[in-house]
Amino acid sequence: MFDLLWNLSQQREIAQLRTEVNAARRDGGSARDSRIDELERRMDLLALTTMGMWSLVREKLHITDAELESAMNHIDLLDGVADGKMSPPRNCPKCSRTLSRRHSRCMYCGTDVGPVL
Ligand SMILES: [Zn+2]
Repeated sequence: MFDLLWNLSQQREIAQLRTEVNAARRDGGSARDSRIDELERRMDLLALTTMGMWSLVREKLHITDAELESAMNHIDLLDGVADGKMSPPRNCPKCSRTLSRRHSRCMYCGTDVGPVL
């Protein structure tokens, strides 16, 4: 299951990067090309790290692919939307500082920011 999810995720990421590369080439921006190269390098490193960590965790702790998938779904739903993405952090409407996902009040100014996600 995890392999299938991983492959689907990678295919989507690769397609998105190809689209960005083509757009950058149309724009003729070498700075943008180098930024995309850097993003590809970082994505490859992140993919390797994630797969290495999952391989170790699965082997050492006997956690199943289904348990990983369940945890991924739980994290996906922290923002209330099952979209396969993590939402960017929210900012406090009063002081603009980054809010903790675990608190319903801004820990800097005390503003009530709604339910914990
Ligand atoms: Zn605040």
